[in-house]
Amino acid sequence: MNKIKVGILGATGMVGQNYLCLLKNHPWFEVVDLAASTNSAGKTYKEVVLQKWLMDEDIPEKYSSFIIRDVQNFEDISKDVQLFFSALDLEDKESTRNFEFNYAENGYAIVSNSSANRWTYDVPMIIPEINPNHVEIIYSQQQGRNLPQTGFVVVKPNCSIQSYLIGLFALQKANFYVKDVQVTTLQALSGAGSKGIKNPDWRENVIPYISGEEEKTEKEPLKILGKINSGKIQKSETLNISASCTRVPVINGHSAVVHINFKKNIPTKEEIIQIWNEYIPEINSLNLPSAPRPPIIYNSNSNHPQVKADVNNGNGMAVTFGRLNYDKFFDYKFIGLSNNIVRGAAGGAILTAELLVKKGFIING
Ligand code: NAP
Repeated sequence: MNKIKVGILGATGMVGQNYLCLLKNHPWFEVVDLAASTNSAGKTYKEVVLQKWLMDEDIPEKYSSFIIRDVQNFEDISKDVQLFFSALDLEDKESTRNFEFNYAENGYAIVSNSSANRWTYDVPMIIPEINPNHVEIIYSQQQGRNLPQTGFVVVKPNCSIQSYLIGLFALQKANFYVKDVQVTTLQALSGAGSKGIKNPDWRENVIPYISGEEEKTEKEPLKILGKINSGKIQKSETLNISASCTRVPVINGHSAVVHINFKKNIPTKEEIIQIWNEYIPEINSLNLPSAPRPPIIYNSNSNHPQVKADVNNGNGMAVTFGRLNYDKFFDYKFIGLSNNIVRGAAGGAILTAELLVKKGFIING
């Protein structure tokens, strides 16, 4: 098949760089447009990122000589682009919200990493293994906003919740409903972009506060586990989450220490591990190229999950759990780990875009 032509907004940043590494040999998508701020516009990609390249692999040769477009310049977008991955935040949330819908009004599909539209009532916030059906709300979004048939906005959630939510959802699918979650996240420096990795105050340190993160960690799962009702996503009323979010001196990999109480039926420890190990998400039948198989890995070795050993499990798309145990105050506790740059940002968005192709929202050609 001819590949679907895509662009990256914020291509020079850390998430943008990761998009290019993940997409360079993608079977369905071909990157043809790279955009960033006015500071970078008009220069070659290599010229701009050479001094700030953060990936382990080299700058993919095929993109080195691309001329960067200013994200506000629509005239120079090549005609065949259908989809943009957005990895930027503008000065304020409202500008970012409007900016994303401006692209949609111009007929482009947007899959965004920004938090700006996560609570917009008609924008689906997707973890493909959990709520693939939420993409259906795109019809209401297009109708309500008079968007062209090819234009819409979809977002992916915060990186902090990826380390454990799929595990709770797998239990729910097996009829074991979790009602209370107390989570402490240990989030990597790269979660704050290149600024985070370079911040000398964060090295050899633990920062007990990440602005806005606890609110996102407590609220976003409720939308993801919610139901579509009259063109809106009605949030789940059955889960209570209390979160403490910390920044730790790890380059890449968000861990989460999670305590849970069940609503009614309480599974045994062996049952939980079996449910996680055998969990097959609905999207498996769609054969999406970036879907990890399996999506959850339980490591029974008591000193795992470890960032160094486990962050790239499933090419950075699988979530690794370990240390499941009974608890004095809760029913159980466990530790989860996910790759914040791959699963939590570019990889999760690419998987979402693959889902949109299979569901017919992005049509090849
Ligand atoms: P970053 O390294 O700071 O990169 C920011 C990108 O946005 C650069 O390409 C920059 O272009 C561009 N940009 C900044 N201001 C702009 C403006 N006014 N107009 C146009 N372009 C502008 O940030 P990042 O870590 O890649 O994060 C990008 C987005 O992903 C953020 O919304 C972040 O919250 C989200 N996110 C990050 C992670 C993570 O783990 N890092 C996870 C999930 C979501 P120039 O180079 O030209 O300045």
